[in-house]
Amino acid sequence: MKLTLKIKLLPTDEQTSLLLETMKEANTVCNAISNVAWEKKIFNNFMIHHEVYHPYKATFKLSSQVLIRCIAKVADAYKLDKKTKREFRPLGSIGYDSRIMTYKPNDIVSLWAIGGRLKIPFVCHNRNYLPYIKGEADLVYKKGKFYLFQTVDAPEENVEDIEAFIGVDFGQTDIAVLSDGTNYNSEQLKNVRKRYSKVRASVQSKGTKNSKRLLKRLSGKERRFVSINNHTISKQIVQKAKFEGKGIAIEDLTGIRKTAKPKSRVHKTELNRWSFYQLRKFLTYKSLLHGVKLVAVPPAYTSQACNVCNHIGVRKGKRFKCENCGNVADADHNAALNIATWGCAINQPEKSTMFCSLHSLSGLKPIRSLVGG
Ligand SMILES: [Zn+2]
Repeated sequence: MKLTLKIKLLPTDEQTSLLLETMKEANTVCNAISNVAWEKKIFNNFMIHHEVYHPYKATFKLSSQVLIRCIAKVADAYKLDKKTKREFRPLGSIGYDSRIMTYKPNDIVSLWAIGGRLKIPFVCHNRNYLPYIKGEADLVYKKGKFYLFQTVDAPEENVEDIEAFIGVDFGQTDIAVLSDGTNYNSEQLKNVRKRYSKVRASVQSKGTKNSKRLLKRLSGKERRFVSINNHTISKQIVQKAKFEGKGIAIEDLTGIRKTAKPKSRVHKTELNRWSFYQLRKFLTYKSLLHGVKLVAVPPAYTSQACNVCNHIGVRKGKRFKCENCGNVADADHNAALNIATWGCAINQPEKSTMFCSLHSLSGLKPIRSLVGG
């Protein structure tokens, strides 16, 4: 499966200035190409190439391949629409492929730059993916540091036959609740968010240009914090499933619960939704990598049905109460148990009596397996 690996470069001061010079030159060229494309109304890669390649090869200090990548970048930027002229930041990212970038032994990458190839040491936190580097990378300059965002094609483990599932409910109050009762309710996360929202409120009241910048930085920090948290949670769930020889069942995408959102909470709601999608995405790709089966079950009634008798019960805040059998449970845990049961039903319909009731319950057919057939 295709993943993006973040590789941090450790250039010397001299290499840093050469890389910066290369980025600036490439983006200057991109802007010049964009001008031509815009003036002449030619937006297709081939046509732009025909128009600019030879004159620009002679005028600018870029190698053929870097120039070709610049042309492709501009053509790509106009793919979305041709209504506005595209402009590129002086230090915007630039693309590298195997003709202008080579990975060497001992964590060194050779990159083309103005003045010749640079051999730059790098560090990478996910070293086990390094052998699977394939295709293109983006050279990104961020806060004084260089990164390569490199595509890798990581092998997937075979999905084993399993009978049981861990149900994951993406809760309303907690981040996720598993059918075995594990609760990912990050107090720390809540505290961090609370702290940020306080700072945000005080900054927002000022409304100056500086405060806008600060707000943007805050939301970036918050997102990074949520991301790290989502990585940890998804990793733990996938490891647990692998260790216990189980699959993972989650609600189908349509299961995002719509909660009433007061205006003051818009930011929080957006962050929640984004976080939810991200956690799902992480769970999906980590399952795929580790050969853990992942299924999505129809979301209808997962939170309303009683996990003991299937009766449609009542949810009151955090509690679920079944009027039929008297079952009282944590509402998210009850939902996670339903998701686990329905995961089994989808996986092995012939062995399950749940399958029929599942269909009649939901009246939906979006039963599909996300990972592992
Ligand atoms: Zn019941």
